[in-house]
Amino acid sequence: MDIDILKVSERLKLDESDIKKAFERKIISFDEYDNKKYLLFKKKLRHIERGTVLFLNNNMDIVMGYPKIRRAMMLYPTLKNYFIDKIVVEEKLDGYNVRIAKIDNGVVAITRGGRICPFTTKKALRFLNTNILDDFPDLMLCGEMIGLNNPYVPHYYPEVDNVLIEKKDKNNKIIENLGFYIFDVRHRETNKPLSITEKDEILEKYGLPYVKPIGVFDKENVEHIKKIILKLNEEKREGIVLKDPDMLINPIKYTTHYTQCNDLSVAFRYVYDLGIDFMFSRLVREGYQSFEFNEDEKEMGERAKNIGKSILYPMVDTIKNISKGEFITEDFEIYLDSEEDLNEFLAYLKKLHIAYTIKEKQKLENGMHKVKIGRMYNSTNDKIKSHLDGNLW
Ligand code: ATP
Repeated sequence: MDIDILKVSERLKLDESDIKKAFERKIISFDEYDNKKYLLFKKKLRHIERGTVLFLNNNMDIVMGYPKIRRAMMLYPTLKNYFIDKIVVEEKLDGYNVRIAKIDNGVVAITRGGRICPFTTKKALRFLNTNILDDFPDLMLCGEMIGLNNPYVPHYYPEVDNVLIEKKDKNNKIIENLGFYIFDVRHRETNKPLSITEKDEILEKYGLPYVKPIGVFDKENVEHIKKIILKLNEEKREGIVLKDPDMLINPIKYTTHYTQCNDLSVAFRYVYDLGIDFMFSRLVREGYQSFEFNEDEKEMGERAKNIGKSILYPMVDTIKNISKGEFITEDFEIYLDSEEDLNEFLAYLKKLHIAYTIKEKQKLENGMHKVKIGRMYNSTNDKIKSHLDGNLW
């Protein structure tokens, strides 16, 4: 593929030498989807965010990467120091980040890492009326794809049940748990966000689903925000993203005890693949949260027990299963419209070097395909098997 480095450099305001080096170090890759050829940034390069996409079309359209959201370890004094005046509190949904844009008359859904995902693109087109992008082609819709039936972050949300097939016996209905909520509307070339009011107004006007604010608070009102966290924790929800009403400064995030434990339990189920990267950060968050919420002995004991269980139980479960000769995988079930869509998605996983195995496949009476795919974590399987066979650490 011949790429005009000079043009790319002018378009992105990057030095030609930086671009050449980035190609050599594989920070920039080439990919294509549906006859759309594009470059993607796998890491941040100067002012270009990770996940940025540059389309190799006549306009050389750009879709900037979604910016990193930093984390508050303490609500007080962080919020008071960080924000200008008011804070808009939005729920943080636990799914995967998607940017939706219209390029050359086609709508694409781009993942955080900068790939056009065929599964996500097709689902987004089903969930959203994209007229807004006809009227404002320079905008992108940034949102979270959530629900159990997705291939990346399977997590059940009661509000996104879609009935795919009705049955007389209600218990046999086929339900897909998947939905999309927009949380930011930004100019795709500059990443400049609309203010919260502008965002809500435009999304209401076009009838698009978005994350409704939980409330707007004075930046000093940390007590109220703590109450929100406790309530979300009870409801087993992920956390909050705090935003300036005019989006003049970058949002920040804060998560619940439930999420920290849930992350740990996933990490220790696939311990040699995910454990190290996940563990330290989650444990430290728990330390600050216990301190900030001023926990007594009993509350701290409860927290400690939950953390310990989240680590130990899934890990022992994995060891047990491997000891019985099982090969453990992280399974997800997805619904696709056709066999071609399935093959296209599997080819996409291969391209991303994601190791998987098909565990079940079923054609439904409405022509859709239900597929159970197991993601393979080889280090976890191999290392545990080796220790169970008596090999030393
Ligand atoms: P990073 O720290 O680089 O932002 P991460 O993968 O560590 O990425 P998370 O800890 O999951 O990210 O938190 C940031 C992500 O939260 C965002 O990228 C976005 O996908 C998601 N998110 C969910 N709800 C919201 C919301 N209401 N506003 C903004 N982002 C949200």
